[in-house]
Amino acid sequence: MNEKNDRAAWIQARSATCSLPPKPSHAPPLRLILLGAPGVGKGTQAELLCAGLGVCQLSTGEVFRAAKCLSAAERTPAIREALACMHRGELVPDATVLDLIRERKRCLHCRGGFLLDGFPRTVPQAEALDQLLTEEDLHLDAVLNYTLPIATVVQRLSGRRTCANCRSVFHIHARPPRVVDVCDHCRGPLIQREDDRPEAVHVRLAAYEQSTKPLIQYYAGHGLVRTISAGGEPERIYERTLAILEP
Ligand code: AMP
Repeated sequence: MNEKNDRAAWIQARSATCSLPPKPSHAPPLRLILLGAPGVGKGTQAELLCAGLGVCQLSTGEVFRAAKCLSAAERTPAIREALACMHRGELVPDATVLDLIRERKRCLHCRGGFLLDGFPRTVPQAEALDQLLTEEDLHLDAVLNYTLPIATVVQRLSGRRTCANCRSVFHIHARPPRVVDVCDHCRGPLIQREDDRPEAVHVRLAAYEQSTKPLIQYYAGHGLVRTISAGGEPERIYERTLAILEP
């Protein structure tokens, strides 16, 4: 197992650097995109893939959630708009998301490779990413498309709990912490993400159907899509993922 990358450069951008660059357990680096409706378990698979393969998880949602901790004075108008969209469960405008990615483009060169989680979310974002990767002389290895029936997705989202401290993800039934509402890893409090509230879940699933699902077609056209059933235990889904990544 690799040690976990702290991803400071991704979360904070600007001059932050990662204190612990990931050590790849494979060569050359893997560059992946995770697709699938909110709640299919992309975050959990991302954690397992990072630990197992040494790739770095680059989650745009996580950057926006971190921005919630900024003081009012530190929040730019773009960040304020992004947080309002997030609160409602709507997608943040493409221009804001793309600025965020460009500010962090050195993370795309991480020596273990990267795993984009939650980005791209729209076809214009995917086109902009293609352009950026070409400029940076990088290429994608695969787009992992996790699938699950919609009723199961809703069940997963409503039971999901995240550690307010270290961001580890649990589920009240499928992946319960040893002590109720307490993180197994750092003993931090487990909270429900505000966009996992039922009213926001409804909007997020509609946004997925309308804006993100067309990406499957887009990347299928590039021959990159690998579809994986996201049913069952996280460890089984991870095994399916590794099998599909084998050359
Ligand atoms: P996630 O953690 O990926 O489910 O993202 C949480 C929320 O952040 C989403 O519901 C959106 O409001 C916002 N968000 C994250 N990534 C993107 C993106 N690539 N495009 C637009 N909005 C995003």
